[in-house]
Amino acid sequence: MAIKKIGVLTSGGDAPGMNAAVRAVVRTALNRGLQVVGIYGGYDGLITGDIREMNLRSVANIINRGGTILGSARSPEFRTEEGMQKAIKQCLSHEIDGLVVIGGDGSFRGAQDMTRRGFPCIGIPGTIDNDISCCEHTIGYDTALNTCMELCDKLRDTMQSHGRCSVVEVMGRHAGYIALNVGIAIGATSILLPEIAFDFQKDVIDRMEEAKSTGKNDFIVVVAEGVGHAEEMAKQIQEITGIETRATILGHVQRGGTPTLFDRVLASRMGARAVELLIEGKSNRVVAEQVGRIVDFDIEQALSMKKTLDMDLYRMALEISM
Ligand code: ADP
Repeated sequence: MAIKKIGVLTSGGDAPGMNAAVRAVVRTALNRGLQVVGIYGGYDGLITGDIREMNLRSVANIINRGGTILGSARSPEFRTEEGMQKAIKQCLSHEIDGLVVIGGDGSFRGAQDMTRRGFPCIGIPGTIDNDISCCEHTIGYDTALNTCMELCDKLRDTMQSHGRCSVVEVMGRHAGYIALNVGIAIGATSILLPEIAFDFQKDVIDRMEEAKSTGKNDFIVVVAEGVGHAEEMAKQIQEITGIETRATILGHVQRGGTPTLFDRVLASRMGARAVELLIEGKSNRVVAEQVGRIVDFDIEQALSMKKTLDMDLYRMALEISM
């Protein structure tokens, strides 16, 4: 059966560039003769029926905006059989033939559940954490990196003026991609990641002391959220080294802001491809980017893939920051 009407929603943690993806989905679908509805508030909106018709102008002036005009949510109800049935009923009553879900791995699991019940879904990776294994860059990751880098540069100015140490906590409960790349970009003396076990004395204190012995007198330690408490680490550093140390938790500012050019282009390409896949009659796929190309994977396969941290990059980061 040819697809006539599709729905698009954003789900889970928001990410800059989600709007650019929504825009691409809506415009590609309309320009290929499909009807499009926007589903507001993630899977919750699907359950309650917060579903609105989209036209070409519904997505005007959003490519440069962070957040998501469709709103996002975590929907515990959607994970129940009753919630899922309500969602499917809404799709049927709105005559939606296929769904594009922009979100992270949790959202893709939801999309997979819908597909298993006979409802075609395509996932687009929108998450600042870059923790979708089949995809080299997820939507929002590049923007988050640049936001962190700019904020750390500002911190660095004042750390240098006062000869202090700064412990900066960035997002990434289970994934250290933000911490590693930001650490390289700002020249952090130590980078602590959830993927790599560390020894506080050897990997933080000794490195600071060594750098100090060659004349360095201001320091930044980048810590991924999942690794420990920045405040406690700062206290420990100050106690052991005598260097005045402050903690900064960047928090949710990392999720917002104007998407970078990279994220806008990536989101546009992924959005367009997601619609093409539905038109081609495909479902249960995740759109991804590899070596600059847009590709797609079965959701189940995508979720079972493991992403490994680039250890050479980590070693290089440590070597050149001393
Ligand atoms: P993200 O998509 O950013 O990983 P979440 O993990 O919070 O964010 O997932 C977003 C939503 O997707 C959840 O609120 C829930 O409705 C749905 N979801 C998450 N995990 C599952 C799952 N295992 N099965 C079905 N739906 C899920």
